[in-house]
Amino acid sequence: MSEKPVLLQIGSVTERMRARLEAEFEIHKLFEQEDRAAFLAQVGPSVTAIVTDGHWGVPEDVMAACPELKVVSSYGVGYDAIDAEGAAQRGILVSHTPDVLNDEVADTAILLWLGVSRRVVPADRWARSGDWEARGAFPLTRSVQGRTMGILGLGRIGQTIAERAQAFGAKILYHSRAPKPVDFTYCADLVEMARQSDVLVCITPGGAATRHLVNAQVLEALGPEGILVNVSRGSVVDEAALVAALESGALGGAGLDVFEAEPKIPDALKAMDNVLLTPHVGSATVETRQAMGDLTCDNLSRFLKDGTVLTPVPECKALNG
Ligand code: NDP
Repeated sequence: MSEKPVLLQIGSVTERMRARLEAEFEIHKLFEQEDRAAFLAQVGPSVTAIVTDGHWGVPEDVMAACPELKVVSSYGVGYDAIDAEGAAQRGILVSHTPDVLNDEVADTAILLWLGVSRRVVPADRWARSGDWEARGAFPLTRSVQGRTMGILGLGRIGQTIAERAQAFGAKILYHSRAPKPVDFTYCADLVEMARQSDVLVCITPGGAATRHLVNAQVLEALGPEGILVNVSRGSVVDEAALVAALESGALGGAGLDVFEAEPKIPDALKAMDNVLLTPHVGSATVETRQAMGDLTCDNLSRFLKDGTVLTPVPECKALNG
């Protein structure tokens, strides 16, 4: 029998993470099993730790099959795919990877905003296709200078986005459940904030509490010149309402990194020139993914040492030492 504690791996890990995890744990991979129920029945009782990510989280059947589970380390800051409250009630510590990805995700939000305003993809197509020679200059675009940016969710990443937007002379408004100790203007009413904004950036957590916060009314308030940027979770935006608003011209454009049924993206969005799409790559650079992987492993190593983690999710802070 192995002396090492048993770790269940859900989703994939990088080579660098694998090397570290293998040194400390006996690893079993959930997705390599043909008969999941039989695998969970056999391995579940010995599992004390799980490594997962923001996409896969911890499915209910896994939670139920692991009565000795003590710690879940998730690769990513968003943990809406994990029942963190239920885990806390069972005394299971859940950790995530906050802060190390703030800069990257903020860069992605700015990139989407600039890309939609300045029509980067259609301009690139114009340059490559020969339209420049055949049809002349590319049509004028809209400047991002001196705009009003509404930020939905002024947390770690939201504040980093605000700092970057100020370099473009933006006036910053924000909406969240409670005002923050910042110099930006708090808007208690999201529709009113959208009405005042040229660009609305979504960067709240996902989950039931934020589902469809951005609905038809918010999009209409943002208006025919307005731009929606979503780098939070697809569930935060009513995607059907978004498609309808873009099709009718009620909304000017959108830059989207996340989608309601990703990796599926509605064909209607793919066909639109005023929409810039990225495949959930907000934090996806070599440097930032390495930092996230290191923190994911550091949390597990710390747990083995003293039963605490470095970066617990808020629901589990009371359990952390
Ligand atoms: P934080 O917890 O620091 O910030 C979240 C913010 O959202 C807070 O200001 C919070 O304020 C606000 N908020 C939470 N619930 C609501 C609500 N119901 N209504 C309005 N505002 C709300 O999180 P981070 O900034 O670190 O990360 C935010 C999210 O970004 C992650 O949870 C994840 O979903 C997403 N993300 C996406 C990535 C990508 O690749 N596209 C990469 C990384 C993160 P208050 O509590 O006062 O409401």
